[in-house]
Amino acid sequence: MKSLAERLRARGSGTRLAHWDPGSSPGCKDKNEARQRTAENLARIDVLQYRLYAEARQSLLIVLQGMDTSGKDGLIRNVLTIFNPQGCKVWPFKVPTLEEAAHGFLWRIQHATPAVGEVAVFNRSHYEDVLVVRVHQLVPRSVWSKRYRIINEFERHLSERGTRVLKFFLHISHEEQRGRLLSRLDDPLKRWKFSDADLVERGRWRSYQHAYEDALSRCSTPDAPWHVIPADRKWYRDFAVSEIVTDTLQQMNPRIPKARLAIRKLRARLG
Ligand code: AMP
Ligand code: MG
Repeated sequence: MKSLAERLRARGSGTRLAHWDPGSSPGCKDKNEARQRTAENLARIDVLQYRLYAEARQSLLIVLQGMDTSGKDGLIRNVLTIFNPQGCKVWPFKVPTLEEAAHGFLWRIQHATPAVGEVAVFNRSHYEDVLVVRVHQLVPRSVWSKRYRIINEFERHLSERGTRVLKFFLHISHEEQRGRLLSRLDDPLKRWKFSDADLVERGRWRSYQHAYEDALSRCSTPDAPWHVIPADRKWYRDFAVSEIVTDTLQQMNPRIPKARLAIRKLRARLG
């Protein structure tokens, strides 16, 4: 049977988001099953990250993208906090600062890539430079259109130096986003998250879906695949990402290095 990673992988050219139902839950019966399997996955990730860190030869980069309210923050809180912070960094990418904007778009990204043995989580990423930048025409087409190739080369380079790149597009529906924005307005504990800009971006929904389709079509490579995660149901989103991260770490198969120690002599010295 196909793994979930294979089922949810964007196949390259001609990816159409309309073909993916944001409310579906492939490979999982219901919320109970999802919760239980997510917990099992987290236990495996814990062991595998320990080995990754000890081995200190490979690294993992997790890229999260999605419309506002798609659940990037929730996914980090529910699933990715399983990573020991000694060995994992989370990088939120916001509107570039003056200094960042004065450099090439990969400058701030390069700096955040994981060192050997480490995991890095990008909450938004270099893909903003072919998404928000394209939708709002922040640079001319002649500039952003070259970035797909530049991104593919950058990610291939990462993969050649031992970094696995896993990319997740959290796919929510227009209706679900409405509900989540409303609950940000209604809930005093969530109100701080609401931004007028969210409504501007919502008004550009179709342009964003097209920009995402192009990014997924052009930049889902064997080195750095995109996965489309149906994200209307939070329990499914958490389960699917935990499953794919677990599978990937298992394939990477990090091993604790063999220590060459003269145990008997060392014990004797300890007295
Ligand atoms: P949030 O993730 O909700 O904190 O919002 C961060 C905002 O920064 C989003 O509106 C992004 O579109 C925006 N952003 C991130 N990267 C870039 C970029 N390279 N250029 C312009 N805006 C960006
Ligand atoms: Mg926001």
